[in-house]
Amino acid sequence: MLGYSKNGKVLFCDLEDLELDDNPRKFAHGDYIYTRCPQCGGPSWFDVVKRMGRCFECEMIHRFHTKYRSLSDEEIYKDLGCENVVRKRQRQAAIPPEVFTPQPLGQLGRSYLASRGITPMTLANFPILYEAHYVNRDWICWLNVSGFYELRQIGGENHKWNP
Ligand SMILES: [Zn+2]
Repeated sequence: MLGYSKNGKVLFCDLEDLELDDNPRKFAHGDYIYTRCPQCGGPSWFDVVKRMGRCFECEMIHRFHTKYRSLSDEEIYKDLGCENVVRKRQRQAAIPPEVFTPQPLGQLGRSYLASRGITPMTLANFPILYEAHYVNRDWICWLNVSGFYELRQIGGENHKWNP
C-alpha cells in the first residue's frame, strides 16, 4: 500500500508497488534498478542497497515501508525479479580480494630505482622502500606517516595507488 510522508515528499512503497521498467536498455546494474514511479508512472531509479529511489518526472522520492528493513538486499532483488543482479553479486563475492604483500626490494625494484638516479648507497641509508606485485602491476612502495602504503608503479607510467 502506498503512503506519503507528512510533508508529502516521500512515497512509501511495498515491493509490489515497484514495477521494473520494461525498457531493456534500463536493465538493473550496480545497486540500481529502473522502475516505474508508483505515483505518476514515469521512469525512475531505485537503489536497493540504500532502499531509496526517485522519479525522473515528478521527482517523488520512493522508499520502502519499514517492514522491509529485515530483508536482505538479495531477497529484495529476487522479489523484484532481478535474478541477474543476485547472480552477479554472488560471483563477485566468490572472488577473494587480492592481498597487498610488500616484499624487500628485489632486482626489479633496485634496477628501476637506479634508472631514476637513486644509488645503492642512498637505499642503504634510507631503507624505507619495498616492492610489491599488486593488481597485475609492479610497484615501489613505502609506509607514509599515516601508516598506509603509498605505491608508485615501476616502469615510469607514473601510476599511483593506495591499497
Ligand atoms: Zn513520478
